[in-house]
Amino acid sequence: MSAIDTLPPLRQVIMDHDLTAKKSLGQNFLLDLNLTAKIARAAGDLSKCDVLEIGPGPGGLTRGLLAEGARHVLAVEKDSRAMGALNEIAAAYPNRLSLINGDALAIDPLAQLTPPIRVCANLPYNIGTELLIRWLTPREWPPFWTSLTLMFQREVAQRIVAKPRSKAYGRLAILSQWRADARIVMELPPEAFSPPPKVSSAVVHLTALPQPRFPADAKKLQALTARAFQQRRKMLRASLKPLSPDMEDILTSVGIKPTQRPEEIGLEAWCALSRALD
Ligand code: SAM
Repeated sequence: MSAIDTLPPLRQVIMDHDLTAKKSLGQNFLLDLNLTAKIARAAGDLSKCDVLEIGPGPGGLTRGLLAEGARHVLAVEKDSRAMGALNEIAAAYPNRLSLINGDALAIDPLAQLTPPIRVCANLPYNIGTELLIRWLTPREWPPFWTSLTLMFQREVAQRIVAKPRSKAYGRLAILSQWRADARIVMELPPEAFSPPPKVSSAVVHLTALPQPRFPADAKKLQALTARAFQQRRKMLRASLKPLSPDMEDILTSVGIKPTQRPEEIGLEAWCALSRALD
C-alpha cells in the first residue's frame, strides 16, 4: 500500500476506530490508497474546486481527494463511528476538510460549498440512484455541480451510459444523458472492497452540460420515462394510455409510432413527447 500521506494505513484506521463494516449502511470500504487517488484523479482538476463527498467512511477516498489537491472537501457521513478517523484526516490537512455527521438524503450542504463544485463519492448502494436523480433534476440548470464522479454497482453504471435499443436503456440513461455527458471511467472487481460486495462496481463520470440537449421539464420527463419503462415490453400506446385519451395522436405528432416500445425511443423524441403532453 502506498503512502499518499503520513496518516496510518486504512486497515489500521479501521481497527483503531472499531469501524467494522455495517451492511445496513452499505459499507464496502476501499482500502487501497493508490486506487482512491486514481478515482480522485478521474474527477478532474480539483485544485480550484470544492468537492462534496458522500459517505467517506474511514476516509480512503477523502485522503485521495486531498492528496490530489482538492481546494476543499466537504464530507457527509451518517455513521458517527467514522468521525474520529475523519477528524484525524482534517487535522492532517488543516482548513481543507469539513465534516458533517448526518444523512445525505436529509441534509442540504450547499451553504458550506463554494463553486466550482465537483461531487466525488463511493456511494452507499442503497441511496446512490436516489442521490443521482436528485442531482440531475434540480429546479434550475446548470446545477450546483460541474461534475459527478460516482461509484455504482456496475449494472447501475451501465444503465446510466446506456444507448437506445439496449437492455440497460431506461429512465436513468435518459435523465443522465439529457443534461450531462456520462461515461464509465473505471471498473472494479468485488475484491477491491472490504468486505467484497456480491457484484462488480464501476465509476461513472458525468459532466454537466451548460443547458439540456433538448427542452423539457425535468420532473415531467422523469415521470413520463418512469411510467413508460415500468412496462418496458409494452407498446407505448398501451403503457402511456392513462396519460391522455389522445395518446396515439400525441405519439404520432412527435414522430413516435404508437406501436413502438420505450427502449426504441431516443432522447430527442422523449423530450418532444414530454413537451407535447404538457
Ligand atoms: N468512501 C468510503 C470508501 O470508499 O471506502 C466508504 C464507502 S461505503 C460504500 C458508503 C459509505 O456511506 C459508508 O461510510 C456509510 O456509512 C455511508 N452512508 C450510508 N448511508 C449514508 C447516508 N444516508 N448519508 C451519508 N452517508 C451514508
